[in-house]
Amino acid sequence: MTQPFTEEQVQRYARHIILPNIGGAGQRKLLDASVLVIGAGGLGSPIALYLAASGVGHITLCDHDTVDLTNLQRQIVHYTESIGLPKVESARLTLARINPEVQVEAIASKVGGRLDELVSAADVVLDATDNFATRHAINRACVRHRKPLVSGAGVRFDGQIAVFDLRRDDSPCYHCLFPEEGDLEEMRCAVMGVFAPLVGIIGSMQAGEALKLIMGIGEPLQARLLLMDVLNMQIRTVKLSKDPSCKVCGN
Ligand SMILES: [Zn+2]
Repeated sequence: MTQPFTEEQVQRYARHIILPNIGGAGQRKLLDASVLVIGAGGLGSPIALYLAASGVGHITLCDHDTVDLTNLQRQIVHYTESIGLPKVESARLTLARINPEVQVEAIASKVGGRLDELVSAADVVLDATDNFATRHAINRACVRHRKPLVSGAGVRFDGQIAVFDLRRDDSPCYHCLFPEEGDLEEMRCAVMGVFAPLVGIIGSMQAGEALKLIMGIGEPLQARLLLMDVLNMQIRTVKLSKDPSCKVCGN
C-alpha cells in the first residue's frame, strides 16, 4: 500500500488530486520522483519552479554559473538580492520558500564527470542548457541509461522543445535531429538577445512534459519537435524519426 498523504499535502496538491488523470496515484508518483535539471537559467527557472510547486520529490539542479544582473530579465527563479550567488544555490533558496518538502540537490559545477551518475539516478532528465557540446553530452548519457530526455531551447523570439523517450527502442535521440558534425551556428542569448517570456513558455512546457512522463499520462511530445515563433505566434510540430545510422543511438 502506498504511503498516505498528510493533511498538508492533501491541501497543497488538492488541484492536482481532483484532476481525473492525476488523482492521488499520480501525485504520489510526483512525490516519489527524481528529476535532473541541467541549467538554472532562463529555461531552468520555470522548470524548477513548476517541478517544485507540483511536488516532484527530488530535484537535482546543476549549473556552474553565478547570478548576474543581466540574468534577471528572464531567469525568474533568481532575485536581485541573489546576484553573485551560485545559480543553483539561489534557486534552492527560492524553491524552499515555495515548497519546503521538496528535496533540492544543488550542484554548483559543470555537470562534467558526474553526468552518468546523475542521469542514471534520475527518472526524467531536462536539458535547459545553452550550448551544443553539453546538449550532446546529456543526450549520450540519456541514451546510455535509457532515460527520457526533455530538451528545450530558446533565443530571440524562437523556441523549440522535443521529447526523446529513450526507454523506447524506436525513439530518436537528440543526435538524430542535430548531428554533431553539422555546422549549426551556436546561438547564445548573450549575443542574440532573448525575449523574456519565450524561455518562460518553453521551460513551462518542458516542466509539463516531465510531469506527464513521470505520471505516464496523456500523449507526450515524444519524437516530435515543436517550433514556436513567439513574435508572430506561429507554432508548428515536426515529426522526428530515428536515424538508423545515428552514431549515438543507432545499431
Ligand atoms: Zn540518435
